[in-house]
Amino acid sequence: MSTPDQRFKDKVVIVTGSSSGIGKACAVYFGQLGAKVVVNYSANADAGNEVLEEITKNGGTAILVKADVSKEEEVKAMFNQTIATYGRLDILVSNAGLQQDSSFLEMTLQQWQKVIDVNLTGQFLACREAARQFVAQEAAASKDEPNHSELSIGKIILMSSVHDIIPWAGHVNYAASKGGIMMFMKSISQELAPHKIRVNSVSPGAIKTTINKEVWSDPEKYKGLLNLIPYKRIGTPQDVAKAVGWLASDDSDYVNGETLYTDGGMTLYPEFADNG
Ligand code: NAD
Repeated sequence: MSTPDQRFKDKVVIVTGSSSGIGKACAVYFGQLGAKVVVNYSANADAGNEVLEEITKNGGTAILVKADVSKEEEVKAMFNQTIATYGRLDILVSNAGLQQDSSFLEMTLQQWQKVIDVNLTGQFLACREAARQFVAQEAAASKDEPNHSELSIGKIILMSSVHDIIPWAGHVNYAASKGGIMMFMKSISQELAPHKIRVNSVSPGAIKTTINKEVWSDPEKYKGLLNLIPYKRIGTPQDVAKAVGWLASDDSDYVNGETLYTDGGMTLYPEFADNG
């Protein structure tokens, strides 16, 4: 019998928004690979508990923490609980996000603000706490024993979207939040690289989750969607989890400030495939 892959053995991972979809797949994936996982939810405790059970019933280690990523005190409390439980943090997957769609002419300030608060300010709050923790634990560790390792001391993976470069009418709040993530990610990567903290994004294309159920559950809309995907299939949350896993591993140690498009080629201008 082959030995199970434990590439994240004892690494502590927070995955925000992990009670469903892509975040859930990431939490389960890290759990399978030996990590200690912090499953985060903001509203649906039952869904969060299901993820927790899925990880632990397969021998994984996890805790469930309620926190709204757009609220500073709740984000701080989530990190505090993580450190109180596991003593450290190694990886943040800053995944929580939502859509509040409207034509631009009809969009309310509330719809704009909600998406920016969760998708962009939520990233700021979680990434800042993670970076502070990485720096603090490294300072504490190297007081006793200087760190001579060349490898990264902490990894941050932000969940962006192909809409960080593809404009999206009817979703300008969402596209603006994801475009913002791109420059936020690159800037903090530049600032944190000297601390040996690596920051990268994953930008999924169309992934089958509740966020876009309205599209993939309608045969006509689904057909239209496939026209936008050269690879001719919708992505799965597991496709994204594996991309996140690579960026969180030391296999990608020299990758900093990059965006990994995980989109079946959606960003390849598919409408030009027949000569435009
Ligand atoms: P989803 O709706 O299943 O997951 C989003 C998660 O974020 C949910 O678990 C939700 O509870 C959580 N969340 C929302 N607001 C929160 C808050 N204030 N605090 C904490 N958690 C909160 O959808 P998904 O497709 O899995 O989306 C996950 C991420 O992937 C999002 O950032 C989304 O923008 C991004 N994304 C998804 C797709 C796709 O096609 N599904 C494509 C590109 C990017």
